[in-house]
Amino acid sequence: MNCKWYNVCPMKYFSEQGKLEKRWIENYCKGNWKDCIRFQKEEKGIYHPDNMLPNGEIDKKLK
Ligand code: SF4
Repeated sequence: MNCKWYNVCPMKYFSEQGKLEKRWIENYCKGNWKDCIRFQKEEKGIYHPDNMLPNGEIDKKLK
């Protein structure tokens, strides 16, 4: 099962644009999405920028 946010998540968009390594999608969105910091913040309604990776790091190259 994929993360419930997958279809609307900027990580999917960045991956499809070839800007993000596929391992992020495989390890988190299609794997351990409960470990994703984006997922955890989304669940709590806490703001997180579009360029924040699943591990919580900011990737300034993503836009
Ligand atoms: S990056 Fe996180 S919140 Fe976004 S789809 Fe992947 S697991 Fe879900």
